[in-house]
Amino acid sequence: MSQTSFDIQQAAVIGAGTMGRGIVMCLANAGVSVHWVDTNPQMLEQALATVAETYAHNVRQGRIDQAEADARLARVSAAADYAEIRNADLVIEAVYENLELKQKIFRELDGLLKPQALLASNTSALDIDAIAAATKRPEQVLGLHFFSPAHIMKLLEIVRGAQTSQAALDAALILGKRLGKVSVVSGNCHGFIGNRMLHPYVLEARKMLLEGAYPQQVDAALQGFGFAMGPFRMYDVVGIDLEWRARELAGKGQDAPEIQVDNRLCEMGRFGQKSGNGYYHYEPGSRQAEHDPEVDALVLRVSEGLGFQRREIGPEEILERCLLALVNEGAKILQEGIAESAHDIDLVYLNGYGFPADKGGPMAWADQQGLADIHQRLLALETRQGEQWKPARLIGELAAQGKGFADR
Ligand code: NAD
Repeated sequence: MSQTSFDIQQAAVIGAGTMGRGIVMCLANAGVSVHWVDTNPQMLEQALATVAETYAHNVRQGRIDQAEADARLARVSAAADYAEIRNADLVIEAVYENLELKQKIFRELDGLLKPQALLASNTSALDIDAIAAATKRPEQVLGLHFFSPAHIMKLLEIVRGAQTSQAALDAALILGKRLGKVSVVSGNCHGFIGNRMLHPYVLEARKMLLEGAYPQQVDAALQGFGFAMGPFRMYDVVGIDLEWRARELAGKGQDAPEIQVDNRLCEMGRFGQKSGNGYYHYEPGSRQAEHDPEVDALVLRVSEGLGFQRREIGPEEILERCLLALVNEGAKILQEGIAESAHDIDLVYLNGYGFPADKGGPMAWADQQGLADIHQRLLALETRQGEQWKPARLIGELAAQGKGFADR
């Protein structure tokens, strides 16, 4: 096989959890055969049943006919172990978010798969180079970061490791097109483009809970701006427990003030939509987020317990802090070369994070405000709240030249 063409006919997916299920359907829907592995046979059995049920549902809805459903399902087969996937052209790993586990799997796959096979991880944030280092083919290792549910969400972040070859990247871009995704190439950093920007955005939202706001107010302000969901509704959908468990697994501290509300909710078993309660209440079988006064009382208790003097926080402040946190991190991502363009960052936020389409994405929105204005507003926040608001160097430079992110 030439270095410039990876022909992906046979894929394998490792992990039959939330993401594995969506990824398998993406592949099967696009005509790619998939072998599927999970260490837990019950999980795999359940996952196969879910995939079959999803296709049956699509037939009932009239989206596909029975023949198409049968063809899709026939492309998916359970594999008892890694030996059965040795002929795969591409493996996508979607097991728990744990670096050592992923390294172990990549090491094993590297020893088993044909030399030209591509190895991809669906990690949300982990270091792709550290995963690639477990193999002898780091040029064929990359991130394929799907969003949940993977067979529906349009975005695919393709993560380029330090040694990922152009041929491997090209193959991923071709695959992305075949799967009908909007693909964006990201450099390797914690959280890549989307989740790295999400971090300071959510941090502001969480801090405002402690300073005086309630989840519903924060979400209402951002939804009023046009976001599909505010951050707390989003956490209810994703599962509040994911980060909580990841912190626990990684032996990270659970002491930071801004995660105390999350921690209390998780200790109460309020993991979000899936458990019927999270930041909001959900009636059985419903995805309708209902205001829960118990959560407001909890927020009040936690913030007072931490010694905060609560104050009124209006929608303007919520928008200012959440949006500028996104833009400032986006600018850093751009200046570091993690994203190739401001437009790519906007594509990530429009297709993966529910940013309002009519505003064009966070970087386009910042350009509409004018970067001189954004720069001033960041400086004002820095004066009031500290150096986390120090404007990214790029914003100052572009503002001084009267340019926007799009002019770079
Ligand atoms: P999950 O907990 O739903 O599923 C993980 C699956 O991996 C389980 O079925 C488990 O049995 C299986 N598994 C564990 N060790 C294994 C091994 N050694 N070999 C084979 N299978 C093994 O997890 P998830 O939510 O699907 O997340 C999977 C990955 O995708 C994580 O890296 C996560 O960060 C990432 N991700 C998750 C989301 C999301 O919204 N859930 C979004 C994007 C990316």
